[in-house]
Amino acid sequence: MADSSKKLPGNSFVLVAQADYSQMDRAVEEILQTFPLPWKEKKVLIKPNILGPYPPEKGITTHPSLIRSLVKALRKRGARCAVGDNPGLHGYTANERCARISGILEAAEGDYINLARDSARISLESRFLDKLVVSRAVLEADLLINVPKFKTHVQTQVTGAVKNMFGILVGAEKARVHHAVPRPRHFSEALVDIYQIRVPDLTLMDAVVGMEGNGPSGKDLRPIGKILASRNGVSLDGLMAAMMGIPPRRVDHLDIACQRGLGEIAPERMEIQGSWEPLWKFKTPLSFASQGWFGAVLNRLLYRPLIKPRLKVRPDLCTRCEVCIQHCPAQALSMQDVPHLDEKKCIACYCCYELCPSQAMELASWMRWIHPGDKTPKEKPHRAERKA
Ligand code: SF4
Ligand code: SF4
Repeated sequence: MADSSKKLPGNSFVLVAQADYSQMDRAVEEILQTFPLPWKEKKVLIKPNILGPYPPEKGITTHPSLIRSLVKALRKRGARCAVGDNPGLHGYTANERCARISGILEAAEGDYINLARDSARISLESRFLDKLVVSRAVLEADLLINVPKFKTHVQTQVTGAVKNMFGILVGAEKARVHHAVPRPRHFSEALVDIYQIRVPDLTLMDAVVGMEGNGPSGKDLRPIGKILASRNGVSLDGLMAAMMGIPPRRVDHLDIACQRGLGEIAPERMEIQGSWEPLWKFKTPLSFASQGWFGAVLNRLLYRPLIKPRLKVRPDLCTRCEVCIQHCPAQALSMQDVPHLDEKKCIACYCCYELCPSQAMELASWMRWIHPGDKTPKEKPHRAERKA
């Protein structure tokens, strides 16, 4: 495994820049000036979140205007850019199709690369995984820019900088990891192992329009009007969780990353430039935080009967495309009138929910009534904006 600790910045500085999609150049310039890196003649890989074949207006994938501005600004600085991601969908043409539909292929202006074309099998230090197939371009980049999206996640509570690096795995490798590491806390630990394969040099998070509720491919979009940027993706995710009203320590993969010394996750101990606040009445996802031993015991005992969000297919929206069936790591789905779920086989990875192109899957849980995560203000704050 690469010694990622050498690549970590020595602080937990996060910049919160005001932005909108029509004027992205200004925000990107501000960020690149705040985080000067030696771009000239370097091979720079830009890794957006291209989860699936979703157009930009769905707010599921990194917005192409951010990628376009980033490519333009880096070319101006003499960098050799490449833009690519491995979506959740696998198959020969999946990468390019998803990049085209998300608008990112066009935004890359000739610098798009299909990350699935060239891969490497690597060893890593992990309790659960000994070998992984990752995109070679990730390993060979001089500088790596992670460009995730501000979104909730029904399995891991948040998706952001750390979770976005799961996309360095090629093709069906992601499904293999889900199947090999089905327990939520263990999966979170594996996510941090994967993040450490190649810690990004800079992270720019698209929080112009974020997602609340049951992300990462839900319908509840949330205008926020910001880009969050940091050399430290773990700290950036900590701030994102705090903005969502989710205590960062309750997010397993952030807790684990912090314990490993990869970054500070409590906003009060970070250096933050720009204004931020917990978002008013932010809807947290139907997932459960296994905080501490009590949470872990509750999770172990009650996960299947009570906590686990239930999947439901809406027959009026389902097109019977079978994408969910083809991508279920546990073969828990089969086609009847609509996809039918075998609860005993289901490992609650929610790949089917994430990848349904028609957003025909819905989630329900008793946890909606006793959910511990939502700590955002219930009343609209007047002057509650915090400035660092
Ligand atoms: S639930 Fe979604 S992914 Fe599955 S068959 Fe229906 S439309 Fe396709
Ligand atoms: S049915 Fe959905 S949530 Fe269950 S294992 Fe398959 S993909 Fe994962």
